[in-house]
Amino acid sequence: MTERVTGHTELIGLIAYPIRHSMSPTMHNEAFKKLGLDYVYVCFEVDNSTLEDTVKGLRAMKVRGWNVSMPNKGPITQYLDKLSPASQIVGACNTVVNDNGVLTGTITDGIGAMQALKEEGVEYVGKKMVVIGAGGAATAIQVQAALDGVKELTIFNRADEFYAHGEETVKKLRERTDCIVNIYPLEDHAKLKAELDSADIYIDSTSCGMKPLEDVVAIPDKSYLRPDLIVMDTVYAPRQTKLMRWCDEVGCKNFNGLGMMLYQGAAAFKLWTGKEMPVDFIKDVLF
Ligand code: NAD
Repeated sequence: MTERVTGHTELIGLIAYPIRHSMSPTMHNEAFKKLGLDYVYVCFEVDNSTLEDTVKGLRAMKVRGWNVSMPNKGPITQYLDKLSPASQIVGACNTVVNDNGVLTGTITDGIGAMQALKEEGVEYVGKKMVVIGAGGAATAIQVQAALDGVKELTIFNRADEFYAHGEETVKKLRERTDCIVNIYPLEDHAKLKAELDSADIYIDSTSCGMKPLEDVVAIPDKSYLRPDLIVMDTVYAPRQTKLMRWCDEVGCKNFNGLGMMLYQGAAAFKLWTGKEMPVDFIKDVLF
């Protein structure tokens, strides 16, 4: 550590609560080391009550940048100077870059999801996508997909507190992009079947498949899948969800959220350092 951290070392932080379980320090510190970059990535337990002071402190200390996770992703936007187009629409940010005192917020979760599709050889420009979910991750994906040229986006969410949030996203995307965007209740099974039948890509961004919902799948059964539908489940723990097992049985290409997690980190890394994250090396370290 004394060889690694010197008087010249730059700090990159992660501010969230809780945060001690995060894989981000390993990802970024291994990448810094691999490329010989003089940065160190450290987690700070910060919630909304100390967020404003934290941002002031990080700015005053000329910290190069930081990641932001829950519960700070939305509230931090009010303390920043600029927001990326996706961050403005989502109303949240997960990455801040400090350029000589000017703080710019970006959201790289959607960038990560779209890059994960590309890495899997999935062409999405001009295609139809169904996204189930209207929470934080789903919204970031929906906004980036619409900005990146997905032709038609259909959102489903169950009748909970997230549904109205999905309606807001639809409204904003209709105003600001050419994407054809609609939202329907997940409980409307006939509509769900029809939309999935005519979709190229289905992204599941609900909490289904992860603890404590390991045995829950957002769609009712396997008949909603077909061999030429491409499915991404944003869950990465466990590595294979029940939805993904159904996909294997039906014969459709499917993958988990590890790629999304990796490429959202790689996008932030590039913003802070100007360098490409050595993703193959990081995959060996993390996966
Ligand atoms: P969130 O709490 O903001 O949203 C949860 C979503 O799940 C809502 O749309 C809610 O309606 C839906 N939901 C919850 N229980 C459901 C059920 N029983 N049936 C149908 N829908 C249900 O959470 P989030 O942060 O957006 O996370 C959502 C998913 O995205 C999680 O699975 C998480 O693991 C994943 N995620 C992945 C990454 C990544 O990098 N791969 C990053 C963030 C989140």
